[in-house]
Amino acid sequence: MHIVVLAGGVGGARFLRGVLAAAPDAEVTAVVNTGDDVTLHGLRICPDLDTVMYTLGDGIDEDRGWGRRDESWTVKDELAAYGAEPTWFGLGDRDIATHLVRTRMLDAGYPLSDVTAALAQRWQPGVRLLPMSDQRVETHVVVDDPDTGRPRAIHFQEWWIRHRAALAASGFVQVGVDDARPGPGVVEAISTADAVVFAPSNPVVSIGTVLGVPGIRDAVRAATGRVVGISPIVDGAALRGMADRCLPVVGVEVSAEGVGRHYGARSTGGLLDAWLVHTGDQATVPGVDVRAVPLLMSSPEATRALAQAALDAAGAGHR
Ligand code: GDP
Ligand code: CA
Repeated sequence: MHIVVLAGGVGGARFLRGVLAAAPDAEVTAVVNTGDDVTLHGLRICPDLDTVMYTLGDGIDEDRGWGRRDESWTVKDELAAYGAEPTWFGLGDRDIATHLVRTRMLDAGYPLSDVTAALAQRWQPGVRLLPMSDQRVETHVVVDDPDTGRPRAIHFQEWWIRHRAALAASGFVQVGVDDARPGPGVVEAISTADAVVFAPSNPVVSIGTVLGVPGIRDAVRAATGRVVGISPIVDGAALRGMADRCLPVVGVEVSAEGVGRHYGARSTGGLLDAWLVHTGDQATVPGVDVRAVPLLMSSPEATRALAQAALDAAGAGHR
C-alpha cells in the first residue's frame, strides 16, 4: 500500500506519525509545503520540512512542536548582540547545523529534493520526504503598511512570527509559484497512490500552497486512489496555531464545513472524496463522504486511530 500525505508543519508531522503507526508496512510519501521557506542570516530555512523530519526522526521539541529538543540559543543571542536583524526568528544552535548543511548543498547546486534526502539520511523519518517543489515559492502576506497606509507584501514568516498574525491581511501571494514545477516524484506519487490524504494542516498556507504549485492540484483531481481530507478546524477554531487567521483572508468560514467546501468534492470539480470532521461537528459538503471521528491528536493512540479512520475512508485501511 502506498499512502501520500500532503503536509505542512506541526499538524502534518503529527498526523504522519499516526499514519506510520496505523500502517507500519505501507510506503508513505509526504509532500511538504515549502512556501514558508526563508533565507535569514544567509541560511536557507525550511520550517515545515524540518518539523516533519525532526518529528518523525525523534529529534523534535515536543512542547514547542518545532525545532530541536535540548536546544540552546547562543548564536541567536550573539546575533542579537550585534543588532543583526531579524531577531524575531527562533534559530536554535542545533537547528543551525541543519540550515548550514542545507545552505551549503544548495549553494553547491543540489536541488532542494536532493538536499532533503541527504538530511533525511541522518533522521530516517520512515517516510519519503518530498518538497512540493525544487523551485523557490515563498508565501507573502499583503498587509497595510502602518507607516504609509498603503498595501505592502511581507514574508509569511514575518507576519506569522513577528506580528503573530495580528496585522490585518488582505491576501496571500505565492511568490514564484508561476514558474514552479512539482518536485521530482510528487506527481507520480499522487497519481498512483492507494490513498491521498490532506493532513490537518493549515488549509491556506500549508495545503493551499502545495496545491498551488502548477500540476499538483490536477494530479490530486486525477489520482487513482481516493482523496481524504482531515479538518484542522475543530469546534470552529484552529487547534494549535493561528490557521483561523488565514481562512477569513481568503473568504473561507472558520469551520469544518467551510474548509471542506473550500476543498470541494472531486465529483464536482474539487478535490475530496471524503472529509473527516471532529465528533460533534456538523458539516455538509455536497458530493463528499463526511465522517465524524475524534480529530484530536492528543496521544499516540488517538493519533493512530485518526490515521486509521482516514485510511478506512480511503478504502485503503486493510489492504
Ligand atoms: P504549521 O506549518 O506548523 O503551522 O503546521 P500545519 O499547517 O501542518 O498545521 C497547523 C494546523 O494543524 C492548525 O490549523 C491546527 O488547527 C491543526 N492541528 C494541530 N493539532 C491538531 C490536532 O490534534 N487535530 C487536528 N484535527 N488538527 C490539528
Ligand atoms: Ca508551516
